Amino acid sequence: MLNAFTIDLEDWYQGIEFPIGRWSSCSKRVEKGLYRIFSLLEEYSVKATFFSLGWIAEKYPAMIKEIAASGHELGSHGYSHEKVYSLTKDEFREEIKVTKNRLEDLIGKPVTTHRSPFFSITSKSLWALDILKKEGIEIDCSISPVKTWRYGIKSCPDCIFRIREADIVEFPVSSFRFFGMTWGIGGANFRLLPCKITKDALDRRMKLGKQNMFYIHPWEYDENHPKVRMNWKAGITHYARLSKTLPNTVSLLKNYKFGTVSDVVLNYQNKFGGLSQISIDHLQE
Ligand SMILES: [Zn+2]
Repeated sequence: MLNAFTIDLEDWYQGIEFPIGRWSSCSKRVEKGLYRIFSLLEEYSVKATFFSLGWIAEKYPAMIKEIAASGHELGSHGYSHEKVYSLTKDEFREEIKVTKNRLEDLIGKPVTTHRSPFFSITSKSLWALDILKKEGIEIDCSISPVKTWRYGIKSCPDCIFRIREADIVEFPVSSFRFFGMTWGIGGANFRLLPCKITKDALDRRMKLGKQNMFYIHPWEYDENHPKVRMNWKAGITHYARLSKTLPNTVSLLKNYKFGTVSDVVLNYQNKFGGLSQISIDHLQE
């Protein structure tokens, strides 16, 4: 079974919620982490989906072209890394337009996948799905069925489905139960928990016929990026056990089959003869 390998293409200072006005003064390290994961994907012949910020596409055009030339998929991660529920509808539409246009100019083909910063399509920002579809996005990966202090919709199914009203495919974060709690597969959980816990979760889900969505960031492969004081919750999710990202990733790539978001959705549709549809009301809380 094919699982999705996704990278949110951003630098360390974007992952810790620095406002865009501070970005130019931060040390630039995105390539350090990016090329570590990029080489691993080459080594294991895996094609992944890179959700890029529009800002990153503007500053690193050669890097974007190289990713696309290697056969990976490019998707949008918005422009300013602002959470969707903190934007107006017009601001959100503009972020998607600018990012999509910039990426498409660089890679010469349509960008049809999207993930919002911090999985910030929640019950407060479901309006974003309509806008995404109208701007040419076919597959959104912005909803988490795991509820956290920042994001999440508890009633969201944790497999691929179509949202009827917006006519858009949703491929949410994959979730699993461990120690009486629900966890998402990827990011901080991937570093905080022993790798075996993630692998057991992948195995259990695959036995149930559920495709997995794995996500990670370039700065998680760069343990020496600058340390900044922040609230303890954000501090743990950003900095804990960064040295584990690389060996844990090798273990996943050795043991599972991964591909791009679009390839996984296509496989899933072919296997099951379509996708289940749910109404947007199901995601209201
Ligand atoms: Zn992000």
